Amino acid sequence: MLSAPVVSAFNPPRRILMGPGPSDVYPEVLAAQSRPTVGHLDPLFIAMMDELKSLIQYAFQTENQMTIAVSAPGSAGMETCFVNLLEPGEKVIVCRNGVFGDRMRQNVERIGGVAVMVDSPWGEPVDPDAVRAALHANPDAKFLAFVHAETSTGALSDAKTLCALAKEYGCLSIVDAVTSLGGVELKVDEWGIDAIYSGSQKCLSCVPGLSPVSFSAAAVEKLKARKTPVQSWFLDQSLVMGYWSGGNKRSYHHTAPVNALYALHESLRKLANEGLEHAWQRHHEMHLLLKAGLEKLDINFVVAEASRLPQLNAVYIPAGVDDAAVRSQLLQNYNLEIGAGLGALAGKAWRIGLMGYGARRENVALCLRALEEVLR
Ligand code: PLP
Repeated sequence: MLSAPVVSAFNPPRRILMGPGPSDVYPEVLAAQSRPTVGHLDPLFIAMMDELKSLIQYAFQTENQMTIAVSAPGSAGMETCFVNLLEPGEKVIVCRNGVFGDRMRQNVERIGGVAVMVDSPWGEPVDPDAVRAALHANPDAKFLAFVHAETSTGALSDAKTLCALAKEYGCLSIVDAVTSLGGVELKVDEWGIDAIYSGSQKCLSCVPGLSPVSFSAAAVEKLKARKTPVQSWFLDQSLVMGYWSGGNKRSYHHTAPVNALYALHESLRKLANEGLEHAWQRHHEMHLLLKAGLEKLDINFVVAEASRLPQLNAVYIPAGVDDAAVRSQLLQNYNLEIGAGLGALAGKAWRIGLMGYGARRENVALCLRALEEVLR
């Protein structure tokens, strides 16, 4: 017998999360999550799940019937799109302008697909002209995949134009909206997006661990026409839909993360009450406030103004400043978390998140005051 470890209850401090995610969770969302657990086939829970589906549809601006929350983080949403739609040997044009575009490539290759890479420099949006050239040179490509909001660099790509290009060349589009959903304009149906995934822990300000996903009718057709079974049992949407198809028809697939789904329901309810356009505007306004303050501190942005993400501000660490020491002082003395640089920007940039509940005046003011004091 192993002896029982003696440990205290975990009582984390209340940090202010202004990194690349997870973001600050709304107090009402935390409260929702602590409500009594009910069975995932309980009629009351099923009614909540029907509402949740319509809330996800609202956030994505889609009427897609195949709209769900995958019971796992954004990476599982990414994998859901690739593993369901792509079959071995099929070609995907993958845009890479940061860490997450490269993860898309890894997904494609693990499935046995062929990834044709369209690279853009870190900090720049995906280049539609380079995408057009790749689509033109690869008439056998079946998909165009790209990251709408590259969290590793803070760059926003033009999803509307890229999806129109995909359509023009007969490709389905697969879009990463992990950081964009709720923070910047995103219109799944109007822009003709075929498969999209996001995460609960960024601009939705929900607890981490869930991934909203939606497939267009064309994507569902592609899934139905597969010649090979989906390699992942857990993520196979043709099975998962038995639970998400709605109303009393819901049948057991896996045990739904009941309390986390209460949390998502509450955070999306808050988004719906605020209104998507207001949420986008609030993120923009808070970004402008932060930008004005950072400029006074002589801190410069990685991304050119036209494609800056309001919710993820990647800035160069001023010369001579100790990256880790500053972040540690912010955490210890101000309870404030900002993000380190990732990949090519590690040690060179900070990533300051203004996501969801975190996109507030008091957070901007605290971040600017703390940075000013620590850098003095
Ligand atoms: N895609 C993007 C753009 C992300 O920013 C992230 C996480 O930061 C992911 C995918 C993966 O999401 P998760 O960490 O929730 O698995």
